[in-house]
Amino acid sequence: MTAVFGRGAWMLALVGAWSAPGAITVAFPAERQRLPAVEECYLIGATDPGRTELLYVNGVTTDVYRTGAFLAMVPVKPGTNVVTIFQGRDKLVRSFVVAAPSAKEIPMPEPILSDDDPRLGPPAAWQTTGTLFANRVRSEIDGGDTLYYLPTAFCVRGAEVKGQSWIAVWLEGRRGFLPRQTMRRCISGAVPSKRLIAPDPTVGFPDAPPYGRAPSTVRICVDPGHGGTDTGARTPHGWNEKDVNLMQARAIRAALEKVGFQVVMTRDDDSFPALYDRPKLAYDERVDAFISVHHNATAANRNPRVARHTTAYASTSNGLALAQCIQKHVAPVLAPVKDAGAQMRSFAVCRNPAVPSCLLEVDFINLPEGEAESWDAARQKKVANAVVMGVLDWMAPPSAESSDSKPVP
Ligand SMILES: [Zn+2]
Repeated sequence: MTAVFGRGAWMLALVGAWSAPGAITVAFPAERQRLPAVEECYLIGATDPGRTELLYVNGVTTDVYRTGAFLAMVPVKPGTNVVTIFQGRDKLVRSFVVAAPSAKEIPMPEPILSDDDPRLGPPAAWQTTGTLFANRVRSEIDGGDTLYYLPTAFCVRGAEVKGQSWIAVWLEGRRGFLPRQTMRRCISGAVPSKRLIAPDPTVGFPDAPPYGRAPSTVRICVDPGHGGTDTGARTPHGWNEKDVNLMQARAIRAALEKVGFQVVMTRDDDSFPALYDRPKLAYDERVDAFISVHHNATAANRNPRVARHTTAYASTSNGLALAQCIQKHVAPVLAPVKDAGAQMRSFAVCRNPAVPSCLLEVDFINLPEGEAESWDAARQKKVANAVVMGVLDWMAPPSAESSDSKPVP
């Protein structure tokens, strides 16, 4: 204690009337953090709630939310930036680095148009090493459509693409591309035919939602996003997205179980199931639906108070039907958070070709209001009940009268 007191007294002498950093904390940007080339960035932090002194960020008065959280947009320049925050006798100085704008453009690889393109190596037998969802055959290098999902240890005709970390493969007479890191050479020497048939990953799965089935016969996988060292987004108080995702996911599980659904969780603690292990679990467990739970944050230069919205994402058409039904019920309970609707976006956890899958971005948590409301157990419960309503809506048998929002089987 003496040492601490001694250091405090020394600091007091050094900074004069201002005390050593006290109640104020800044969660973003972190001390010495390197930011991309931006012209302004958000700064979020917290002070003791209920203080009456004004809070200044670089001399500009900044609103403090009832929880003590605050948000300021600060103009920045390339190089080291210093932001000073004052409140009463408290002071905090935060320095961080902003990158210089770069004129460099990453050249796009020229598309490979023919099978005898000189950039293709000799044909050989190549084997997949990833999971079904990682072994995604694309129509172009680093892009295009998903042509096939291949199971682990599937042997295919392949050729290395010179200068690229992709393997060209041939299936059913079509050429596609797989990432080099999910492939290895087959032990057997036989090179498969270009017309090799790809296995259908949807065999054995229903091709329509569980229309009219009792919830007790329906299995739902709930996936709390992130976990472990993957913390996800951060709030003004320095809280982590992974924790609120778990709280919200548990509330969803409780609400689903209350009406009789069977629920499988990808995690129920602070562990980190690998990204592709999450849809793999849903696939292996033959669940009827997969719901990933996330909370959003903006890029460094975007004001989260302006950007704040809620969305349900899907990557497949059967996932989109589920996302639309859930979003229709969840968005109203989140008002005034803007409803950005259900949207298609290529997310790893949503690419399951056999299980309708969606990803909820409930709210933005890098602003004071989003943080407070997302951590509120009562709102978590409201969101959870809305998710159940959405799932029930998705399962309602389509009828001639009310087919407006029902998916076509
Ligand atoms: Zn997330």
